[in-house]
Amino acid sequence: MEMNENKKRRAMIIYVIIGILILLVLNTVVAPRVTQPKVESVAYTDMTKMVDAGEVDTFNYNISTGEITFSANIGGTERYFSTSYWPNDTELLSRLESSGAKASTQVVNQSNATLLIYLLTFFLPIILLIWFGWWMNRRLKKQFGDDNPSMSFGGFGQGLGRSGAKIVADKETGVTFSDVAGQDEAKQALTEIVDFLDRPERYEEIGAKLPRGALLVGPPGTGKTLLAKAVAGEAHVPFFSISGSEFVEMFVGRGAAKVRDLFKQAKEKAPSVASTAEIDTIGKRRDTAGFTSNDEREQTLNQLLTEMDGFDNHKGIVVLGATNRPETLDPALLRPGRFDRRIPVERPDLAGRTAILKLHAKNVKMSGPIDFGVIARSTSGASGADLANIVNEAALRAVREGRKGIIQDDLQESVEVVIAGQQRKSMVLSEEEKKIVSYHEIGHALVAAKQKGTAPVTKITIVPRTSGALGYTMQVEEDEKFLTTRDEALEQLATLCGGRSAEEVVFGTMTTGAANDIEKATKLARNMITRFGMSEEFGMVALGTVNNPYLNSDTSLTCSDGTAEKVDQAVVALVESAHQKALTILRENKFKLHELAAYLMKKESISGDEFMRILNDTGAAGTMGDTGDASAHAGGNAQG
Ligand code: ADP
Ligand code: MG
Ligand code: ZN
Repeated sequence: MEMNENKKRRAMIIYVIIGILILLVLNTVVAPRVTQPKVESVAYTDMTKMVDAGEVDTFNYNISTGEITFSANIGGTERYFSTSYWPNDTELLSRLESSGAKASTQVVNQSNATLLIYLLTFFLPIILLIWFGWWMNRRLKKQFGDDNPSMSFGGFGQGLGRSGAKIVADKETGVTFSDVAGQDEAKQALTEIVDFLDRPERYEEIGAKLPRGALLVGPPGTGKTLLAKAVAGEAHVPFFSISGSEFVEMFVGRGAAKVRDLFKQAKEKAPSVASTAEIDTIGKRRDTAGFTSNDEREQTLNQLLTEMDGFDNHKGIVVLGATNRPETLDPALLRPGRFDRRIPVERPDLAGRTAILKLHAKNVKMSGPIDFGVIARSTSGASGADLANIVNEAALRAVREGRKGIIQDDLQESVEVVIAGQQRKSMVLSEEEKKIVSYHEIGHALVAAKQKGTAPVTKITIVPRTSGALGYTMQVEEDEKFLTTRDEALEQLATLCGGRSAEEVVFGTMTTGAANDIEKATKLARNMITRFGMSEEFGMVALGTVNNPYLNSDTSLTCSDGTAEKVDQAVVALVESAHQKALTILRENKFKLHELAAYLMKKESISGDEFMRILNDTGAAGTMGDTGDASAHAGGNAQG
């Protein structure tokens, strides 16, 4: 349960609207009835009729306006009327007198009602508003079991988030370690913190100082936030969290106020967990160069440092920060007594992925047996969030297809959706383009299959995807791989070149479809030379560094300009040799290339098994498919 600013604002608006409504109701319904009994306007002649009938009791004549107000008893009820005096009727007064009516200064008597009216229209709304505010407050407290001041509102002017910070407060996160699959090392590292939060007095007795903060470091979507919540949930302590991106404020000083707020709340409810996600947005290394300094961020960071030093750790407060850019953090944050523990939260391995898939699959219905291992193997590099998404996509597909539960196929397809985007049924390729894409994909698959160390091909398709891929070839390693040898890297390079090479061998031309392959091949070749020490020319010299291992593996060169030029030449040479290798393989297997491409064009999607069956079928090596001329067409192309 979280009480966010929106909810608070909505409740406040309702509160004001109800207040206004109460006032309106009192003014229009209650007040007029007491203050001004209904006065009916009548014609002058009607009045004279009532006078003659002896019904008029009291009357009043206002000389300045010429208005006569009078009360009359009609059929037993007293009613009030007003009319305009007709100036020529000089006998009116005597007629009134003779009818028994009394002249009065005030026909409509208000005097005895004033106090009551005053009470009703002025004090009652205030009393109601106070009561309503109190009632709302109490209801909220019941709901959250907490009297956290930033969550309460109503009363007059109290609360509404003193600093405007979106501090999420959870009395019980309800998340435990069993909700986090894989990540056993991270969980192990966090159990001590859980124990500390659970029984701080035990640590105090011995005089042990526990870390005030731990930093969860890892790529996005690997479960850092989930783990922080699980720590609070396991220890049954409240969880206060704020995201670093919310600290980026327009006004200087607001971020610092938010930090103060977060810690104040965590202290009030200690033992507790205070969590700051994306801590790198405030904890960036402070610049020493004066020009680029950022006052606001520095103030926020300083406040965070002060708070982390300041709190009394006997109470049991643990600050859990999360980041995917640890290298940008200010060293002051990492000093002992602050975030002195660093807990890596890595992308899950094969077993971890299987466990995460199974965990999320518990929430959806399944029809028949599902092999999660197969799915886990084809999702190497996926984060926990990706896998949760895959399971959900599969469930959505099952609904779309009118099934009662998900089947293996749904999961398989949703892996491809996550990798390559939805199928684009509306996109119709011309026959010519379909032919080019078919040859291109078979080119990849064939080059892969004709080398020893490559991962087996599991699927080839020419159904376009929303990501822009016109087709792709999926390869899945049989086992999880952590190391790649130089030979394997070279084979991967050749496989990447296979698509374009097939276009050249068959059509004697090139298309834009190989752009993505070229990008990947270049990156791989460059890494082989600058980071993996796999070139004879440069040997084991690091010529580049990875900027951020968690976000992308983009590198920057760390060598002189002269060397950079030589590196570029080496990259070109490496890719070109892979290109030549691919061309050779395809020329040697030209018959199979034609046969397989024709088959793919007809079926649009083929499995790895089908591919291998045709490839190994030596008997009928047909010469189908013509080497017709071709023209170049635009379109992206992914090689899985
Ligand atoms: P991070 O904070 O590291 O970016 P989150 O903790 O917000 O990632 O994870 C996002 C979602 O991904 C979670 O809510 C959960 O559904 C899923 N998820 C991520 N990692 C795991 C995991 N190890 N086990 C189960 N679910 C996970
Ligand atoms: Mg997060
Ligand atoms: Zn390709």
